[in-house]
Amino acid sequence: MVFYTFSEQQPSLAIGTMYCIGRNFAAHAREMGAEVPAGAPLVFLKPPSAYTPHTGLVTIPKFSNNLHHEVELVVIIGKDGDTITEQEARDYIIGYAVGVDLTLRDIQTIAKQKGEPWATAKSFRGSAPLSAVIPPHSIDDTNAELELYVNGELRQKGNTNQMERSVPALIAYISSVFGLRRGDCIFTGTPEGVAQIHSQSHVKAILNSHTVLEFTVE
Ligand code: MG
Repeated sequence: MVFYTFSEQQPSLAIGTMYCIGRNFAAHAREMGAEVPAGAPLVFLKPPSAYTPHTGLVTIPKFSNNLHHEVELVVIIGKDGDTITEQEARDYIIGYAVGVDLTLRDIQTIAKQKGEPWATAKSFRGSAPLSAVIPPHSIDDTNAELELYVNGELRQKGNTNQMERSVPALIAYISSVFGLRRGDCIFTGTPEGVAQIHSQSHVKAILNSHTVLEFTVE
């Protein structure tokens, strides 16, 4: 069983389902040749085995030649709920983290062309590096800065104030369809600037200049 790295004041929490939102930033949707979905949010899942802890190592699967980074604000759910309203959504948040939705872009492109699911492209082992979880009061999820560096070079810089759907709206939607459980988390979408990570790279993601996630790609 894998646990989030909570501070000494917080109880450990088993990792549940990871819900991920696609195309939640208009500029990123456009760089992928797509649009923000007009109807329901675009949702895909990663299993708990996708978790890579801070300072961890990610191995690029042998069947891909194009690993991409997507830095995202991640919301951690602290209690169960099935039809959570937007008004009560923040009561269900136990913390936040900065994460990277690692994507095998070549495999995803083939899946899109064939109309097949993204599971292999998005949900392979280690595809969800996450920082330590920080308490809910430590950030404003409507105005949080996201940065991503590869080998010291700035690749992505954005702010959650550019998100098309708010954190409460995402919690309401996901809970209504799937039900949210304690230990689940939500990757809320990436700003523009996604690009390839080559092997033997060091990746650093930063939330609001203070929460840092680092990992190595071998
Ligand atoms: Mg993403």
